[in-house]
Amino acid sequence: MAAQPNIVFVVPDQFRQQALGCMDADPVITPNFDRFASQARVLTHAVSNYPVCSPYRAMLFTGKYPYGNGVVGNCNSQTVPYGVYLKPDAQCFPDVLSDGGYDCGYVGKYHLDPPAEEDARHGEGQRGDGRVWDAYTPPGQRRHGFNFWYSYGCCDKHLTPHYWVNDAPRERPLEVNRWSVEHETDVAVSYIRNASGERDAGKPFALFVAFNPPHTPFQQVPQEFVDMYGDVSPTDLLNRANVRLDGPGKQAGEHAKNYFGAVTGIDYHFGRILNALDEAGLGDNTIVVFTADHGEMMGSHGRMHKNVWYDESLLIPFLIRWPERISPGQDDLLLSVPDVMPTLLALAGLGTATPGDIDGRDLSGTLLGQACERPDSAFYLTPRFDNPEGGRRGVRTHRWVFVVDRQEHDPEKLFLFDCEKDPYQLENVAESRPEIVSQMRGLLDQWLEKTGDPWGA
Ligand code: CA
Repeated sequence: MAAQPNIVFVVPDQFRQQALGCMDADPVITPNFDRFASQARVLTHAVSNYPVCSPYRAMLFTGKYPYGNGVVGNCNSQTVPYGVYLKPDAQCFPDVLSDGGYDCGYVGKYHLDPPAEEDARHGEGQRGDGRVWDAYTPPGQRRHGFNFWYSYGCCDKHLTPHYWVNDAPRERPLEVNRWSVEHETDVAVSYIRNASGERDAGKPFALFVAFNPPHTPFQQVPQEFVDMYGDVSPTDLLNRANVRLDGPGKQAGEHAKNYFGAVTGIDYHFGRILNALDEAGLGDNTIVVFTADHGEMMGSHGRMHKNVWYDESLLIPFLIRWPERISPGQDDLLLSVPDVMPTLLALAGLGTATPGDIDGRDLSGTLLGQACERPDSAFYLTPRFDNPEGGRRGVRTHRWVFVVDRQEHDPEKLFLFDCEKDPYQLENVAESRPEIVSQMRGLLDQWLEKTGDPWGA
């Protein structure tokens, strides 16, 4: 039997699927991703089921949907009383990897732990909302099997980031004057080379690299990458048919070049990670995943950011390369975030160690070219942590996106888009297609039941 593969999992924050050159959508400069895409399985329908930071990360690590893992919102001082953080005793993806013989490393933004008052030093003030966002993760159970730690909770200072490195105490984060993507790549490259004895060379390793860019503040990006876009106008950069640069979308005109500049910077540094693997002779037996926690609207439908069902927010990159086993090509596999853990554990030969109580499905067979049942829908949710019956729930299939929206003072509102005929999701056809609405309601009911969601149909 071949040695267990290494895993390198690169997950920037707010990097939309359309911003990969290989998707033939945004006019981005991404030569490394384009080369990588030709070597990888490229999923065109990977879904961020709850497209914000902490819920994505908790689904990734637990293989469960938010009502199964308790992370029903972003972790910050306001949501802690609602139990919104990763539980120390949860049996997580890296716990299973570590128990299965892997050395596990985490670099970058974690955003899964409850902030303490002392964490305000770095977290408060950054968003001006009075909440503490950053959090220190002490060594031990809360690190869930990661034995190399170079991380922080949540802090959007891309040019002056800080990190708690291994056993550094809460009072002594390392402060760095570099673009976080560049610095974290340096750390990842050193880990891959094992240049400072970061890992046990006798073990396979799993390295997670969680860049914060291209998240806001968009202007905090090295100018050299922004300048690569020259004099291109915002309207040329934002070429999607659903872009409206009015209302909140006005910000997109100001920030498109910075956003794509950060994308190009990430492409550059991702290329350095690939080179380091090749130079270390590890390229062939390392599974490399490039994905993101969610997308960015960037002016589509006049909106900015995330936490909404439109494709710019919901669809994420998911490229997986394993030269020895996974054949390259595009694949419309409808992958949900909780499926990632059981799928990768199976690829790592740890399928039998996957916890039995998770929601996600092992889809490794489809990646390996075996007959395998493929999902026909994905669950979407934007819950309200303070009102389990409020918020939005929906279903994404290959053809349809269906959403029920319950806001405070309105009756329930329905959205249905035919993504085949209307790829930019411009026309709500919920009223004219009652038979599809009823079919989608049926699928949604199944998801609510399966995931223990208290929302109620
Ligand atoms: Ca995020």
